[in-house]
Amino acid sequence: MWLDSHCHVTADRFAADRDAALQRARDAGVDAMIAIGSGYGFEGNADAVALAEGHADVFATVGVHPHEASEMNDAVLRRLREWLAHPRVVGVGECGLDFHYMNSPEDVQRRAFAVQVALARELDQPVSIHVRGDDPDAYAPLLEIWLAEGGGSLEGVLHCYTGSQAFAHRALDAGFAVSFSGIVTFKGSGELREVARSVPLDRLLVETDAPFLAPEGHRGRRNEPAWVGRVGETLAELHDVPLEELARVTSDNARRLFRLPASPATPEASATASPATPRA
Ligand SMILES: [Zn+2]
Ligand SMILES: [Zn+2]
Repeated sequence: MWLDSHCHVTADRFAADRDAALQRARDAGVDAMIAIGSGYGFEGNADAVALAEGHADVFATVGVHPHEASEMNDAVLRRLREWLAHPRVVGVGECGLDFHYMNSPEDVQRRAFAVQVALARELDQPVSIHVRGDDPDAYAPLLEIWLAEGGGSLEGVLHCYTGSQAFAHRALDAGFAVSFSGIVTFKGSGELREVARSVPLDRLLVETDAPFLAPEGHRGRRNEPAWVGRVGETLAELHDVPLEELARVTSDNARRLFRLPASPATPEASATASPATPRA
C-alpha cells in the first residue's frame, strides 16, 4: 500500500485520462495521493481542492509555488486561509525557494515563503516544501525563514529532495521529513542515493511529483502516481528492507505528517469504524 505524498494530477497533461490514471494508481496499490495545489497558477489550487472533494483517496494542499511567488498578496492569503479550513485540504504547499529557475525575484520568493510558513503556523498545518538552487545559497535561507517564522513547531517535508547530505542532516535536526522522487531511481544519482540511505526510515516519504520526473523504466514519459512504487523499490534496496515494509512505513509517515484518516484497508480503521446506523 503506497501513498504518493506529492503529485500534480490536476495538471492539463492528465486532462484526457485523469480518472483512468487515478484508477491505475489504485490498481498499483496506491491508497492515497496528495494533490499539490500550487504550481499551475494560483487558481490551480481550486482544481486540487475540487479533485479531493470528488475522490476519497485524494487530498489537497494549497499554496503559492516559488515560481509564482509574485502572485502573493493579501487577497491570495485570504483565499488560502479559507481553503485551509476545508476538510479535504491537508496542508500548505508547495511553497519554498527556487533560486535555480529564478522565475520570481529572490526577495519576492523569500517573502512569499515566510508568509506561508506564518500562515501554516497560525493554522497549525503541515507544509510541503520545494527547495532548488545552489546548496547552501537557497537551502540556508530556507531553513532560516522556516525557523524565524516558527516552522520549528510544525510538520514539514522537503519534497523531491536533491540537496546535499549535509543539508539533509540539518533539515532532519530541524524536524523535517524528506521525500524522494523518481530522480533517486536514475542511474547516475549515486550521491543522492547515499543521501536517501542516510535518512532514517521514520522520516522518509515517497512521491512521484507527476507529471514530472518519471522514474527509471518510464523515463521520458508522463509520470503518474501508479509509479510511486518504483521510487519505493530503490529506497527499499538502499535501506535493505522488504518492499512491503518500505511501503507501509512511508505511508504511515505521510499519513501522520498530513494527519490523514487511517486507510480504509488498515485494521485500525475497521476496528475504530463506527457501526452502521440502523435504518429507521
Ligand atoms: Zn517542487
Ligand atoms: Zn511539485
